[in-house]
Amino acid sequence: MNRANKLTDEQYENNFEELTPPFTRNSAVSEAFRCLYCFDAPCIRACPTHIDIPTFIKKILTGNPLGSAKTIYESNWLALTCAKACPVDDLCEGACVLNEKGEKPIQIGRLQRYSVEYYLDSGKGNLFNKKSFNGKSVGIIGSGPAGLACGAELSLLGYKVEIYESDKVPGGLNTWGIAPYKTRQYDSLREVELIKNLGVTIHTCVTIGQTISFDELLNRHDAIFIGIGLGESENLDIPGENLKGVSGAVKLIKEIKKEKWSSIDIGRRVAVIGAGNTSIDAATNAKRLGAEEVTIIYRRSENEMPANNFEYELAKSDGIIFKFLTSPIEIIGNSSVEGLRCLKMELGEKDEHGRRKPVPVPNSEFEIPVDMVITALGQKFNAEFLELIPDIKISNRKLLVDTDTYQTGNPKVFAGGDCINGGKEVVNAAYDGKQAAHGIDRFLTNTP
Ligand SMILES: Cc1cc2nc3c(=O)[nH]c(=O)nc-3n(C[C@H](O)[C@H](O)[C@H](O)COP(=O)(O)OP(=O)(O)OC[C@H]3O[C@@H](n4cnc5c(N)ncnc54)[C@H](O)[C@@H]3O)c2cc1C
Repeated sequence: MNRANKLTDEQYENNFEELTPPFTRNSAVSEAFRCLYCFDAPCIRACPTHIDIPTFIKKILTGNPLGSAKTIYESNWLALTCAKACPVDDLCEGACVLNEKGEKPIQIGRLQRYSVEYYLDSGKGNLFNKKSFNGKSVGIIGSGPAGLACGAELSLLGYKVEIYESDKVPGGLNTWGIAPYKTRQYDSLREVELIKNLGVTIHTCVTIGQTISFDELLNRHDAIFIGIGLGESENLDIPGENLKGVSGAVKLIKEIKKEKWSSIDIGRRVAVIGAGNTSIDAATNAKRLGAEEVTIIYRRSENEMPANNFEYELAKSDGIIFKFLTSPIEIIGNSSVEGLRCLKMELGEKDEHGRRKPVPVPNSEFEIPVDMVITALGQKFNAEFLELIPDIKISNRKLLVDTDTYQTGNPKVFAGGDCINGGKEVVNAAYDGKQAAHGIDRFLTNTP
């Protein structure tokens, strides 16, 4: 593989510097002053966790950032990550009424970050009311946002909560997946600490289905919550996928999150396959590691690409090249990647989801010289241990749950996050975890 030149430590730090810096106290207050405190605030409806946004902003204005943080945490236990990594343009800020007036929307994400960091930096300890222990315990599989949110909520409701996590560092994709120019591991681990301080125990290096069986877990606890996310990258299923220089996007980003940037080998010319948010993360991260040319290859057109507008604009401003209507058919090379053989595509009839299907253009084969291929076709659900359990249903590689209670076919077992929604955002997993905690509480207290 032709490797990109190594950068200096200072260059790496600059490249991975956070995209949105924090507000100072004064700038937070003057931004809060712009909020109209709408009667039927559309921002609350647009937030999947329904944070009372006007109230937390008002508390910043009245000099009460701790109260503001409390309001935020009442709805969302992953408030720091969400403040920094939520696609706010599509959610709360996109719904702000100031957009309709042709003005800049309130920077809700940055204000949320201001209050939450104020609280975390203050050392004020626990702001939350906790019920006394009710004698029951819940086991949670996975310490990603879904598992953490579920654990935090159950702990306040009086349950003993034990989280079982395969990795040696907790936090799921908040720790290992989100691009470092949005959040650092430090942010994720601060949230993990907050939740541990509510009384939640996290056992790391424990894989359910290997270290402990699922049946054993069912015997240990009164209820189980499954928040295992989507473990593995999808394969391309084309020749050459095993060549040196081919990497899954999540695996590469996991290395990048360790922040030992100079130790990562990155190609000079990199192709990223797929055009979702993870592909953009992989492409912009590769560029920041020093790759000279990064090309995103997508078989449909710009109109169908799944990445949201913010990510697309970010990639373009980083100089990422987009090759639309292009499908890879072979990765070429002897022992390591030397190129990518592709076909041109055109859009044909609509598929069952209403998207026009890409169809190969005859005799359109061509090659792109690259030294590295990053696959980002999405993640797949990987939980063999669940396939053995008859009353837990899996369809279309998602765990099936009741949409109100988050209960699976087994009344003692609940689930939420990416493993039930096929892969959304942190804020959706945080919501699921919290709602599932209430589903579990209703089940264990026989409350309809
Ligand atoms: C590269 C990438 C970038 C992203 N960027 C953003 C972003 O900028 N903003 C945003 O909002 N969302 C982003 N997302 C999506 C977001 O990270 C996920 O939606 C969210 O983390 C899902 O939370 P979860 O708890 O369901 O799963 P995860 O975060 O995946 O956590 C699942 C946890 O379960 C553990 N586990 C799995 N199986 C077992 C087992 N058998 N036993 C014990 N433990 C187990 C795993 O080790 C993991 O820690 C990104 C995703 C990826 C892949």
